[in-house]
Amino acid sequence: MRALRWHGRGDLRLEEVPEPPEPGPGQAIVEVAYSGICGTDLHEYRHGPNLIRTGPHPLTGLAPPFTLGHEFSGRVVALGGEVPGIGVGTRVAVDPCLRCGVCRWCRHGEYHICAKGGSLGLAADGAFAPLVTVPAEGLVPIPDGVSDRLAALAEPLAVGLHAVRRAAVQPGDHVLLLGAGPIGVAALLALKLAGAAGIYVSEPVPERARCAAELGATEVFDPGRTDVRREVFLRTGRVGPDVVVEATGLPELAELAVTTVRRGGRAVLAGISGGSASLPLTQIVPFERTVLGSLGYNFDIPRVLELIATARLDPSPLLTGVYPLARGLDAFGELGSRHHLKILLAPEER
Ligand SMILES: [Zn+2]
Ligand SMILES: [Zn+2]
Repeated sequence: MRALRWHGRGDLRLEEVPEPPEPGPGQAIVEVAYSGICGTDLHEYRHGPNLIRTGPHPLTGLAPPFTLGHEFSGRVVALGGEVPGIGVGTRVAVDPCLRCGVCRWCRHGEYHICAKGGSLGLAADGAFAPLVTVPAEGLVPIPDGVSDRLAALAEPLAVGLHAVRRAAVQPGDHVLLLGAGPIGVAALLALKLAGAAGIYVSEPVPERARCAAELGATEVFDPGRTDVRREVFLRTGRVGPDVVVEATGLPELAELAVTTVRRGGRAVLAGISGGSASLPLTQIVPFERTVLGSLGYNFDIPRVLELIATARLDPSPLLTGVYPLARGLDAFGELGSRHHLKILLAPEER
């Protein structure tokens, strides 16, 4: 079968690989319907390795090259053991978190911060291929009425939902969202569901700003032309937002998040970055601000699918392109362009 594989920075190859072997106990094989390109994938391609380890991964023992792809939907074609409610043929989305199952965090249900954790598509072969081996605990049945395409968006949407849950956003809260890329838009949709009264968005790219406005942002600011901190301060009765969600990973925006949130408020950092930020302690301690990290998701993918199934969440504006896997390299090139949020790849027939 043909797979799109990461060999190193700037080196993605569409190449022939063997089909996965029969699934072992606790494993399943999924025939991929759609698999989204994540900002992380693009970052690994352009600037990596970042999350990909060049040596053997501590959990999987595997080293690159890896087939990328961790945001996907498909159909179970083989099971290595019994999984309640799931059989061959079941349509599934997949929680791609790899976990050891026995560390302090796994035993407390916090598998997404497992001491040895990794992800399919970054620490083992992922879903830019017709078939992928997945851990059975990651299988999430897709409710009837939710298409394979929308189900492939559940993973990135779960990142936004998790960040909003981490922030404990309350109905009536005012929230500033820094960045309206895929994570930011996912957070915006989750903020609406959480009942935020004001959702202010800072986004310099016009296409993304327009998208945020169409999706229900209260107001969208261009940080290149506006003092966002001051404008949101004025719109919240000279108080400041209850919550700031940082969704870009830019270190300077982590600092802005902390200095912009109201006294006693919560700054949630959901963008992934390898950089460092200088957080002024005089802005944190005396004002009792809380700074939180938010990584991925923790049982959020089934919630997202339920929200789509019950028409409470419509993620279709996120989807801006579908390419055959054979054109995956073109899709990676395209994704950098400003009008794309999420591109799905569809593997050809086997
Ligand atoms: Zn991702
Ligand atoms: Zn663990």
